[in-house]
Amino acid sequence: MSSGSHVYGYSAVLMGSPILLKLFDNNQALASQVFRLIKQYEDLLTVNRAQSEVMNINHAAGRAPVTVSAPVFELIRCALAASLVKDSCFNLTIGPLVKRWRIGFKGDSVPPAGEIATLLPRTRPEQVILDDEAGTVFLTQPDMEIDLGAIAKGFIADRVRDYLKLQGVEQALINLGGNVQTLGSPPGGWTVGLKKPFGEADALVGAITVENKSVVTSGVYERYFEQDGRRYHHILDPRTGYPLDNELDSVTIISTDSLDGDIWTTLIYGMGVEKGCALLRHQPGIEAIFVTKQREVIFSSASQFSFTLRDFDYRLVTGSTA
Ligand code: ADP
Ligand code: MG
Repeated sequence: MSSGSHVYGYSAVLMGSPILLKLFDNNQALASQVFRLIKQYEDLLTVNRAQSEVMNINHAAGRAPVTVSAPVFELIRCALAASLVKDSCFNLTIGPLVKRWRIGFKGDSVPPAGEIATLLPRTRPEQVILDDEAGTVFLTQPDMEIDLGAIAKGFIADRVRDYLKLQGVEQALINLGGNVQTLGSPPGGWTVGLKKPFGEADALVGAITVENKSVVTSGVYERYFEQDGRRYHHILDPRTGYPLDNELDSVTIISTDSLDGDIWTTLIYGMGVEKGCALLRHQPGIEAIFVTKQREVIFSSASQFSFTLRDFDYRLVTGSTA
């Protein structure tokens, strides 16, 4: 923030992540309301507890459609649409594989290939049936599991932005453990750090400046484990059941809605730089910053943000290579 006016920061830990809210007013009551809102959505969407609306759907897999609240239905509708795109690496029914790998949790190890092969048929998004009129979600095969871990934070970040707007707030930033959503255009814009992969907690490759935009980063350095000299991270390839492996250390998406940012980070992660840039040419509202293992920083385009390189071990490669 390069503004002269004072920014007030409010923090909490929710959804297993550090949450930071920035306001230009000293308003603890509003911050508490925001944290309550985040918790309410977390309670609906989590799959890390026995009960939630999403868990109700999972528990009824292979048995019956389940009625869910309007926001949950809407989010699942978006997640299903993204999963059904041809060659999509986004898959809302990835749950059984995520649970088995336990990446980033205690006791994570590479599952036997036979087990992965058994789980793959339980991750087919074609087997999710939505009924718009009834507002129900039906997983038609037993042992299917929806996992919204890749998009819940983006969805909630957008709801926080909408709520703050309704409250008459003109400028705010919410950071949900890496999903940043911003409201308004303070002098100098909002600055969001781009983390250095595998660096110290506060090490940055550079800084991204935006106004009224979301900045979402997905990186292989966020959650992973190592076994026999290989690294296994938390974004799985639904085609193979193994972590996605390509030239990327991270992908950042700049977009209006954080939900789009979340969906596109996963989609693009599955495609790599060249295909990703080619596809984004037809998506003017969605821009990507790729950080490669070769320490290059590549933009698909840069009309919605500006970028300042901070770590000169990295090389800025402007313009798409595709
Ligand atoms: P983070 O929580 O680190 O921001 P991401 O937004 O990158 O994570 O999403 C990773 C999470 O998404 C995983 O922990 C898992 O719950 C879920 N997931 C993993 N692979 C896929 C996939 N191919 N499609 C959809 N969701 C996935
Ligand atoms: Mg995400």
